[in-house]
Amino acid sequence: MPRYDFRCRSCGATFELRRAMAQANDPAVCPQGHPDTVKLLSTVAVTGAASGGAAPRQAPSAGGGGGGCCGGGCCG
Ligand SMILES: [Zn+2]
Repeated sequence: MPRYDFRCRSCGATFELRRAMAQANDPAVCPQGHPDTVKLLSTVAVTGAASGGAAPRQAPSAGGGGGGCCGGGCCG
């Protein structure tokens, strides 16, 4: 059975009730007996994704071109 949080506007107390979803919007009475209560939105746990993760860097490719001795005619 879902649980709902309420807050009393008379004394400011917060309390929770377990009730069927069909009665989710029914008025709740404060444990102190105050009828002036509001239903709070259930807090949703946010699984925090870390902001701006560092992208994995690629390993520098070994080898590669450039600087061969045959470029300038030394081999030819
Ligand atoms: Zn109250």
